[in-house]
Amino acid sequence: MGACLSKKEPEPQHRHVGVSGMHNHNHNLNHKNREPYVNQSKVPFQQPYQLPNKQAPRPRPTVKRPDTSTILGKQFDVKRPDDTNTILGKQFDVKKSDTNTILGKQFDVKKPDINTILGKQFEDVRKIYTLGEELGRGNCGVTYLCTEKSTGLKYACKSISKSKFISKAEKEEIKREIQIMQHMSGKPNIVEFKGAYEDKNSVHVVMELCAGGELFDRITAKGSYSERDAASICRQIVNIVHICHFKGVMHRDLKPENLLLSSEDDKATIMATDFGMSVFIEEGKVYTDIVGSPYYVAPEVLRRKYGKEIDIWSAGIILYILLCGVPPFWAETQKEIFDAILKGHIDFESPPWPIISNSAKDLVRKMLTHDPKQRITASQVLVMAEAAVVVQRQDNGDTASVATAVQVATLTV
Ligand code: ADP
Repeated sequence: MGACLSKKEPEPQHRHVGVSGMHNHNHNLNHKNREPYVNQSKVPFQQPYQLPNKQAPRPRPTVKRPDTSTILGKQFDVKRPDDTNTILGKQFDVKKSDTNTILGKQFDVKKPDINTILGKQFEDVRKIYTLGEELGRGNCGVTYLCTEKSTGLKYACKSISKSKFISKAEKEEIKREIQIMQHMSGKPNIVEFKGAYEDKNSVHVVMELCAGGELFDRITAKGSYSERDAASICRQIVNIVHICHFKGVMHRDLKPENLLLSSEDDKATIMATDFGMSVFIEEGKVYTDIVGSPYYVAPEVLRRKYGKEIDIWSAGIILYILLCGVPPFWAETQKEIFDAILKGHIDFESPPWPIISNSAKDLVRKMLTHDPKQRITASQVLVMAEAAVVVQRQDNGDTASVATAVQVATLTV
């Protein structure tokens, strides 16, 4: 969630990613030992999403009443069909749409309660679900296992305390995150949105349960992945980017902590759950607000001029980490990390890179291309992977390069 971040993190431009040896800025309530390379804190939203909240005058009621002196007990028809000044010989249609509206009809005068975040009536989530054990904590919310009373089905319920969201802008940020979640729901690799409820103290977001925990923990437990396994994960992350961009959303904070696994299984699906930093992309807009997390942030974000290509950069960083276990731009301090990102040298010399396939390195290079205009797009990665598997099938080989395995994984997941 974004809004609470601004309250917790006054100084920062970025979510911090702590590095062993450096001062620790972890604001995560559920502090975990994230050595060697990650630790998180978040940045404030810069662009609260503005929802229209216009109040239009209530339309005056029509006061037609039957004329009691008529035989039929209804009003005389005063329309004269023979108006000789008209072409069609009938009266002008005097109904006119309000030229100030977009839809040409009257404003809906129902207005949401301005004191609520979701703009609808309070609802007790506990009437519908039983909230169970805590699954995890983030910067703003606590997520519980929950069971739908009517079906017995299990879900996750993120409960966000409203006390953290005071200003209108902060409330809009929560609302935007929920809107984006809802907008993205129903696609592969995106957590399914079930419902949002609000009561006096909290907003509760009920969603699909991802029982496998964070990808971050899986990576740290494993160290690094084989090209084939890395490819399977990479393909799913690129798919998330592809779906986001296709649906007009820029994620802006892709990292292993924000990706959950559907189950404990080794072949579990990667799920995007946290859209706290995401925005609906405005056509032609150049984004300038600094968001993201140090290791994963694209150089153009640091230069304050960016667009959706930043998501592919972050996915490229994750791919690099999956393959060798450390981030490509690593340093003792945040400033040095940013300097390294801006410099852009990628280490393909240290082990295990010499034994990693050229096509894997090529894909990393393409995803970490400095110029966002030259950077590979999500759909290009997916197409490239598809082409690679055709070649692999023809060769009947088992090179298991990332590019090839990305698609192999598609077929086998
Ligand atoms: P915040 O937005 O407050 O930072 P997150 O969305 O990062 O919260 O969620 C915090 C933690 O809650 C996650 O790290 C994870 O452990 C748990 N969690 C969140 N969503 C789910 C889910 N759909 N299924 C299972 N656990 C979840």
